[in-house]
Amino acid sequence: MSKIKFQTLTGMHDVLPEDQIYFKRIQKSIEGIANYYTFQKIETPIVEMADVFTKSIGEETDIVGKEMYVFKTKGGDNACLRPEGTAPVMRSYLEHGMHNLPQPVKLWYEGPFFRYERPQAGRYRQFHQFGFEAIGEKNPSIDGQIIQMSYDVLKELGFKNIKIQVNSIGDSECRPYFRKILTSYLRSRKSSLCADCQKRLKDNPLRILDCKEEKCQQVKAGAPQTIDHLCESCHSHFKQVLEFLDELELPYELNPYLVRGLDYYTKTVFEIVDMSDFGQSQGTLIGGGRYDGLARMLGGRDTPACGAAGGIERIMGLMKEREMKVGSKQEEPQIFLAQLGQLAKRKSLKLFEEFRSAKIPVAESFTKDSLKSQMRSADKMGAKWVLIFGQKEALEEFITLRDMESGEQKEIKLDKVVEEMKEKLKQLKDGKKDKKLSKS
Ligand code: ATP
Ligand code: MG
Repeated sequence: MSKIKFQTLTGMHDVLPEDQIYFKRIQKSIEGIANYYTFQKIETPIVEMADVFTKSIGEETDIVGKEMYVFKTKGGDNACLRPEGTAPVMRSYLEHGMHNLPQPVKLWYEGPFFRYERPQAGRYRQFHQFGFEAIGEKNPSIDGQIIQMSYDVLKELGFKNIKIQVNSIGDSECRPYFRKILTSYLRSRKSSLCADCQKRLKDNPLRILDCKEEKCQQVKAGAPQTIDHLCESCHSHFKQVLEFLDELELPYELNPYLVRGLDYYTKTVFEIVDMSDFGQSQGTLIGGGRYDGLARMLGGRDTPACGAAGGIERIMGLMKEREMKVGSKQEEPQIFLAQLGQLAKRKSLKLFEEFRSAKIPVAESFTKDSLKSQMRSADKMGAKWVLIFGQKEALEEFITLRDMESGEQKEIKLDKVVEEMKEKLKQLKDGKKDKKLSKS
């Protein structure tokens, strides 16, 4: 065989039919929780002006500095494929004057995102994220709610070994000073940092705390901590957030070196990690925090806000790996429709459609011509009845119903088939119920 010519680009992947059940399960959980907390769905475009991200996430971050898919449109716009969801949601909030609505405006999203990263387990160049954003409220109860919702998603999917890590990284009042003392500490140990972090020293020293390199981890262990240098308002905000988390009985721990990579974060930051056997690259399932400065960065007025985003492929990867339950598959059909001959085949397509509109699941095998092989398929899938639609049946407008257990056969007029099968299914269901009752 010749080599396959076309394959997905590096880091891109197909979400195959067998994975759809996981995707759907995760989406269902997200949507259910969002609805319950009255978050409304928003969809922003996949393509945005590059500045939506460069002006907010920051030019010195990995996402903007290295990972963004940027291009010039034919009209000359500087565009990009969105690498994350918070900045576009805020762009939309500002563009549509949502500050005129009752605050906070609570929104959620789900869809594909793009980052030109080095592919590895749980890390793709096109992946799916969901997110919750509550915009226009500075009260720390919102931080608690966002963390609770994020935790709920994973809990509801059956994750057991998850932990919430929280920290506060201060705001424009206290962070500059912290940055200064952190920089001077790191500078004194510059030679012990990895090459990337040596470069980060100048423009993004906080990001060094986030570095996964062993060398940098060691330096980090002695670094000053953000929480020791919070201003009065950040300190009191953080204290209240922790009180909410206590009240909600959420399993959190303080991680004084958690910073998260993006410039727009202020005050609360958090990540939900899986504590089981995976390495760092798969660890963080959901991350978020407060971003009170973002609206200003995008040219709007000061607007406090808080949100979170989670990676669907990462959640799905762990669910598959651990063979976690995803609920029942689609209802297995009890009825198999077998056909023989051209006329029957044509007519059985119509009959199949009638079953669909009556919402009765039916299996078929229109591509098979031999009755024997169709009966084998029916047997294999455990169908209770087979509807045989042969040449004689098609001409005389009836169908032969075969009970697979007893082997009994009977003829039913074509225009009565759907009705009769509906009745049979009902009896089957009631019978099962009676059995259950008599058992208990
Ligand atoms: P990491 O530190 O793992 O690179 P991040 O801080 O870049 O994560 P966020 O921007 O917070 O990630 O995105 C939120 C979530 O989206 C992550 O916790 C993760 O589950 C998922 N995610 C991020 N990047 C990728 C990727 N390249 N492929 C798949 N999922 C991703
Ligand atoms: Mg990243």
